[in-house]
Amino acid sequence: MKRILARRALLPTGWAEDVLLGIREGEIVEASAGVPSPPDADLTAGIVIPGLTNAHSHAFQRALAGRTEHRSGAGRDSFWTWRERMYELTGRLDPRGLTAIARQAYTEMLAAGYTSVAEFHYVFRDPAGRDDADAMFEALRQAAADSGIRLIYLPVLYERAGFDRPAPEPRQRRFAMEVESFLAHQERAADGASGRVTVGIGAHSLRAVSEPSLRRVAARAAGSGAPLHIHIAEQRREVEDCLAACNARPVRWLLERFDVDEAWCLVHATHLDDAETRDLAASGAVVCLCPSTEGNLGDGLFPLERFLPAGGRIAIGSDSHVTINPFEELRWLEYAQRLHSESRNVTSVEDPHVGRELFRRVLAGGAQAAGQSRFGLAPGAPADLVVLDAGDPMLAGHGPATLLDALLFSGYRVPIERVMVHGEWKVAGGRHVDRTRTARDFAAALARLGMESP
Ligand SMILES: [Zn+2]
Repeated sequence: MKRILARRALLPTGWAEDVLLGIREGEIVEASAGVPSPPDADLTAGIVIPGLTNAHSHAFQRALAGRTEHRSGAGRDSFWTWRERMYELTGRLDPRGLTAIARQAYTEMLAAGYTSVAEFHYVFRDPAGRDDADAMFEALRQAAADSGIRLIYLPVLYERAGFDRPAPEPRQRRFAMEVESFLAHQERAADGASGRVTVGIGAHSLRAVSEPSLRRVAARAAGSGAPLHIHIAEQRREVEDCLAACNARPVRWLLERFDVDEAWCLVHATHLDDAETRDLAASGAVVCLCPSTEGNLGDGLFPLERFLPAGGRIAIGSDSHVTINPFEELRWLEYAQRLHSESRNVTSVEDPHVGRELFRRVLAGGAQAAGQSRFGLAPGAPADLVVLDAGDPMLAGHGPATLLDALLFSGYRVPIERVMVHGEWKVAGGRHVDRTRTARDFAAALARLGMESP
């Protein structure tokens, strides 16, 4: 058994001092406060917090970061013009390239304090149109194994170009699968998963999946206990198209036709009316917010100020990976609300400290989105944790009240010393153990995929 003594640790009950964490076979088996100097600790750490779940990732889009920040020449740039650039990249992606890009993204996630990632994946066919789903999953699994991150693989059904366009566009053909072969792929992946890999299921969006197929996906999730993720109401145009085709807004339509419960993770859910906000909060589903990507794409603003007091649950995701830093996501989550409401500390609902409240919420919401019933620094939870550098100036003079406020609001870097996943150290001395090889392979993959900018 590994034993870590934390001078300060964030337990489910709050901050505690002199915490002895016992770790065996990838799991926390002991978390006892008030143990000042155990004789046999393997490591004495300053500050320990639980690792977070990155609840929405398209790992391959890490290759696009910084490459879409110029005018496209198509008039006013939007999500839809960005999507054209994303399609160009998916047109070239192969399993080898996916492994290199995803490994880079996952390595950066670990160094920033994410210990799990829910990978929302729908590039299933090779450029010739052949089913490549198993090889693409293997590429992601390899990237997760190499980096050491915990992977929640979410194969995602994609069938059509829009509500009234039953076929995919030519550039969407790499995504499209018949529902039968999709479910067979999901089952093979789930049967082969173990250790740090689990398998959920997803549907791309209401516009890309028919109602009968969504019923098949929901039935598989309910039958297997898998979490079910779906993009929803990210763009106003999607809301308008849904109103035109289904005579209802997307979230209203979903809540009325499906038993949306704790197993569901609604990604973005940006455009909600008041009744949708209230009823979605009451459903128990978790909403995955991706503030850096939503800001980068100009999506709009989620009504967090109404959702949280109504009992809403949230997780965070880095989505397109323009930023890989959970604390920056949470900072932007709060700042966007401040800019909109012209007030401060908007997301403090139950705790006067925004940092503590948001961290607690997304720790629990991320575990829910990942289908993990046990989480945090507690017996029975996975041994996924982060050791902060207690000597870093960012944390000087901060105690239980403001430590997490400092992490969110006083810098863009995170003073992380070590990160453990499943009982193994993957970051030490502030650096991922395989950082150099990963960066070299990533650069080579970009060159091979023709992603070098002039
Ligand atoms: Zn997404």
